Amino acid sequence: MKKTLYSKFLLGYLIFACFGFLVVATFISSMTLEHLKREKADTLYRESTLIANTYASDLYDNKISLEVVKEQLDALSVYLNARIWIINPSGRMIMTTETPLDLETEQVVEGFDPTITESSFYTTGTFFDCFSEEMLSVFAPITSNYKVRGYVVIHAGMDDIRASSESLLNISYIMLAIFFLLSLIILIFFTEMVYLPLRRIIAATEQYAAGNMHYEFSVDSEDEIGYLAASLSYMASEVARSEDNQKKFIANVSHDFRSPLTSIKGYLEAMLDGTIPPELHEKYIGIVLNETERLTKLTNSLLSLNNLNMKGMVLEKTVFDINEMIRRTAASFEGTCQKKHISISLVLTGETLPVLADKGKIEQVLYNLLDNAIKFSHPDSTVKLETTEKHEKVFISVKDTGIGIPKESLKLIFDRFYKTDLSRGKDKKGTGLGLSITKEIIHAHNENINVVSTEGVGSEFIFTLPVADEEED
Ligand code: ADP
Repeated sequence: MKKTLYSKFLLGYLIFACFGFLVVATFISSMTLEHLKREKADTLYRESTLIANTYASDLYDNKISLEVVKEQLDALSVYLNARIWIINPSGRMIMTTETPLDLETEQVVEGFDPTITESSFYTTGTFFDCFSEEMLSVFAPITSNYKVRGYVVIHAGMDDIRASSESLLNISYIMLAIFFLLSLIILIFFTEMVYLPLRRIIAATEQYAAGNMHYEFSVDSEDEIGYLAASLSYMASEVARSEDNQKKFIANVSHDFRSPLTSIKGYLEAMLDGTIPPELHEKYIGIVLNETERLTKLTNSLLSLNNLNMKGMVLEKTVFDINEMIRRTAASFEGTCQKKHISISLVLTGETLPVLADKGKIEQVLYNLLDNAIKFSHPDSTVKLETTEKHEKVFISVKDTGIGIPKESLKLIFDRFYKTDLSRGKDKKGTGLGLSITKEIIHAHNENINVVSTEGVGSEFIFTLPVADEEED
């Protein structure tokens, strides 16, 4: 059988109950009996010394007759529920409360020895075989003129003491049973607060282990178990999200690779089998070349994204003039801009604006942002590049008045392969990787990038870089 926490807890509980019962049955039982015996012995000893010092010593001094003593002690023996004897040191019985006075026959306790009590004042047993059942016998010496003249011995039946001990023990057993019943409440608490939530957590982990990362469960408690359940469910949702992203990523990569490959294959086959006549070959080879360029771009983007994603991206930080870099990048787009009748306006702060960053990577960021701005701008519009300096930071803005980004896409454009529906018609070559690379680079610099955009009005991308200190030049 599978050992569950619950069965272990139950077993522990049962062992605890048995142990409790055993302790009461043995240890507590003998302690109670011993205590009652001592208490009874104490009472009887007090009585016996009292008799020894009064009636018995008067009897030996002949101040009182045996009949009177017998009468008194008979009454006392009924009251104490005990037998009272007066006995000589030799063992000869002077008087006993259980039988009438008989002066004719001599009664002797064979082998009587007062040292039987050892260091105590009482003894248990059959008292030199005088009784058939066990008795508690208490001794008190009768002294006169510094001599022991006899003994007052009081015998009480052990059965009475045992009976009271047992009734006391019965109370202990009832208390024990009540205690165990009450402690069942702990078991109920344990079941409700630990065991059942744990079972739910285990069921969830089994589902996760089987790959069902979308399995949902909840534990409504605000303690450590609730926290564990919440952490587990969060972990599963993160794994599920990352799995979904992975699947999407692979689907996107395959799709983006497949379409240029299909068209390359199609054109080449058409040229080979003569569907495309030789005089048109040049035109179609141009198209094929274009498609291979797109594949190269895609592969390069994937590679650089992979490199950037690797932990501890190495940045080669140097101080450079961001204004000068912006001018250069803008100039490299001159041809494209002319074709689309787009002008670039530069609003740069200061002659030079030194920043501390990885020059090559920031150039790639600028290139991506400007490329997008021009791609998604309408003809005869202006793209504005601006730098401002505030609180030791340089803000670089790339602003266009193009198609803009729908509100619901704003959160997604930095994701890999994401392209808005608006842009699909305008940009067939786009990979959807440019902005995610851009974001990785800026975050690796511990800086930020933001976008403000309105659909149909235009977009503005702003990122920050740290101003270079004078001495860093
Ligand atoms: P792509 O290489 O396809 O441009 P990006 O990651 O650079 O990929 O951009 C992702 C998507 O974000 C683009 O496909 C486009 O839909 C949208 N986008 C980016 N920049 C702009 C912009 N300036 N204006 C409108 N849409 C933009």
